[in-house]
Amino acid sequence: MIFIDVRASRSYQVHIGQGILPGLGQSARELCPKAERFVLVTDDSIAPLWGAETLDNLKDSGLTGTMYVLPHGEASKTAEQLIRLLEHMTSCRLTRSDLVVALGGGMTGDLAGFAAAVYMRGIAYIQVPTTLLAAVDSSVGGKTAVDLSAGKNLMGAFWQPSGVLCDTEVLNTLPDEIFTDGCAEVIKYAVLFDGGLFSLLEREGKAFPREQVIAQCVSFKRDVVGEDERDSGGRRGLLNLGHTLAHAIETCSDFSVSHGRAVAIGTAVICRAAAKNGLCAPEVPERVCALLEKFGLPTKTDIPLDRLMEPMLSDKKHAGSRISLVVPEKLGLCSMQSMDDQALYHFMEAGM
Ligand code: MG
Repeated sequence: MIFIDVRASRSYQVHIGQGILPGLGQSARELCPKAERFVLVTDDSIAPLWGAETLDNLKDSGLTGTMYVLPHGEASKTAEQLIRLLEHMTSCRLTRSDLVVALGGGMTGDLAGFAAAVYMRGIAYIQVPTTLLAAVDSSVGGKTAVDLSAGKNLMGAFWQPSGVLCDTEVLNTLPDEIFTDGCAEVIKYAVLFDGGLFSLLEREGKAFPREQVIAQCVSFKRDVVGEDERDSGGRRGLLNLGHTLAHAIETCSDFSVSHGRAVAIGTAVICRAAAKNGLCAPEVPERVCALLEKFGLPTKTDIPLDRLMEPMLSDKKHAGSRISLVVPEKLGLCSMQSMDDQALYHFMEAGM
């Protein structure tokens, strides 16, 4: 088992290892000693696999609570679903000392975390990521949100969890498609921070050592969250590599392109564009695209750039009339480039 300390406005630990889920109730009591009630939030793909066991486990520890099941998929990350969940929490008479447990992937964690952030002006929550993507990215760092029709995560809050409990045995039961999706974020970390991790992924492919690589990714995230918790122009912004285009692809495809696949395309486009603009060597997009393909991830989209511009321009990475793009210099080292809308179009065009 690996423990990683995250220092932020609320400090907490991320636990990564096998067989963590059976100890969830006990951990919840230790992390939130005042809690008497909980709502376990999950989705209808996870509930049949882990729902009953997790609910019983929490109850066996002496807590009282219910399971709340969302329809799976990004389409559920809406203000309507948020209100329904909040109404459910009031009907369960959750108080300010009680607890939300998010069991699921990015959608569940973002929505349940946001519900915890706003319910009675903020109550505790614990993240139990069940996907690789949630484990390495969305469950850590306290970004919570729902989507609006103009784009992803436009309504949200920074609200740190009380703990993140990542059971690698749960991740092993993922369908290959969901696992592959998370690999896009793992590859993103390698491009951003660690040429050694990149080579390891080239060597091992999808057989990479789970605990070690997840812990490595969480450590990178911990470092940037510690320096720039609220993503206000500092190093946390680096995690947006490929994400401006990715969010636009997700929005334009009505979420038929998953987040991980959209991030893969976004990362590939940025790397190609950076090489064409002389910011990195041609070797960077060549190796990045080869690695993405080795993992079964896409590197191109059919959606024309003209359609993608609108959602890209409403992306949160905008400050005034300029947008910040994360651009590779070499494998394991990236920097931020600020550009206006027109420059963004020309830059992206070179990478499509
Ligand atoms: Mg992401």
